[in-house]
Amino acid sequence: MMFDGGWPNLSRGRAIVLILAVVGLGWLLLRVNHANPSQISLWNGMLANASGGAVEANALKGFAVQTGQGMRGDLMPHGNPLNAPNTVMTQGYGVGSHAPANVWGAIDLALDGDSDGQADPGGTWNRPVHATNPGVVTLTSGSWPAGNHIWVANDQYKTGYAHLQEFAVSDGQQVERGQVIGYIGSTGQSTGPHLDYQIWHVQDGRWVNVNPLDFGAFEAIQ
Ligand SMILES: [Zn+2]
Repeated sequence: MMFDGGWPNLSRGRAIVLILAVVGLGWLLLRVNHANPSQISLWNGMLANASGGAVEANALKGFAVQTGQGMRGDLMPHGNPLNAPNTVMTQGYGVGSHAPANVWGAIDLALDGDSDGQADPGGTWNRPVHATNPGVVTLTSGSWPAGNHIWVANDQYKTGYAHLQEFAVSDGQQVERGQVIGYIGSTGQSTGPHLDYQIWHVQDGRWVNVNPLDFGAFEAIQ
């Protein structure tokens, strides 16, 4: 008599009831776990949110795969990296040192500090530079021709900020659109303080230079 007398002193009837209860509970748990994949994703996402930023970013990437276009829009650069209404373009896209556009495409931006319609060094030196897209920062100090340079890269877009006086972020840092990343300078191949601003976009698996004027480069960052 397997269940009679030994520990935990169950009768055969009680043992059968206990086994049925355990099997039943297991079946119920399995059903809940396999019931609805979208519910499980949401649940994992909530867990990830609760455990902090880096994990949250991974969770959001997971959702991007599921929801498609929505997240791609959020990764796109938008707005003026100087985020100031008195911004002046001192060299256009694809001309001068920005040619050919597929290699050197950029726009140069500076500030008109004395409201005469022209950029001036006094109004431009050390003004803050803002990331226009969310992404991970790569810093390069004292490079040529870009001087102190920042890339902000995500899966779809990277933006480049050249000739900076100083960095306001560290290498590998995750930044959001609008965050101050550095200060305008004249480092590298540059004759006066300005920001050289580039945008690159993944097309057919390659980084392609695109015109910042097509990405609201004179609009407020939002
Ligand atoms: Zn330039």
